[in-house]
Amino acid sequence: MIINHGVRGSSPNPSQNYLFFGGNTPCVEIKTQKYQLIFDCGSGFSKVNFSNDLETILFISHFHHDHIQGLAFNNYDSNLSKKIILTSAHSNKADTYKNLTAYYSNPYFPVNFIEIINKFDFLNFDQVVKNFQDLNINSIELNHPGNCSGYSITSDNKKFCYLLDNEYQDFQEEKLIDFCDQSETVIWDGMFLDSELSDKKGWGHSSIEQGITLADKINVKNVLISHHSPSRDDKEIKNIEKKISNNKVKFASENEVIEF
Ligand SMILES: [Zn+2]
Ligand SMILES: [Zn+2]
Repeated sequence: MIINHGVRGSSPNPSQNYLFFGGNTPCVEIKTQKYQLIFDCGSGFSKVNFSNDLETILFISHFHHDHIQGLAFNNYDSNLSKKIILTSAHSNKADTYKNLTAYYSNPYFPVNFIEIINKFDFLNFDQVVKNFQDLNINSIELNHPGNCSGYSITSDNKKFCYLLDNEYQDFQEEKLIDFCDQSETVIWDGMFLDSELSDKKGWGHSSIEQGITLADKINVKNVLISHHSPSRDDKEIKNIEKKISNNKVKFASENEVIEF
């Protein structure tokens, strides 16, 4: 199953008019019989319950704050005896460790969290791909300031793609169609509307309309628009949703559980 723990982009917004789709920043969990796969640890990461019975792998797309700000705010059940594998295709394990340690230490954080919690097993991405070949893990470089990694995994013949944060450009079309081919679910960065893109050039995000157009070109069952703008309230998203005629496309909402 797929659980959306956080679907808001850039900054959490817990205001009343944002709670239908949800205010937490990105975190998606996939549970299979053997694995618990987590994509990013925005503020939604606080809701992940870890299981000793499953192998847990946390994939980080990049180090912008909305994708890592929840790492220190999970309760990490004291009965959790295993380590969580933490990896990123965006950087090697030493840089991943260095970046997270810098974010979670003085002057940005009161304690040296990564060392104190001692729950993570940092692995290079190619090692994870090799160790867990049954998941057929792939990554794709996305178009984002400072770069960002998208991911795909396949479990029980079902493929899932995670593509936050990406500023879609035409040159990506073929690459994305290939990467997402035969997917069950693709998570798409729909932070903006087409009408907002010209003012937000270089911010590193795509539009909802671009996701709808691409959904028709990709061999995919469902496209979930996520990374909602922190200023787009429920009413506005629902109004946009009503106008979408492509029934493959819907807006991701927090806490929804999707069979996978
Ligand atoms: Zn983001
Ligand atoms: Zn970003």
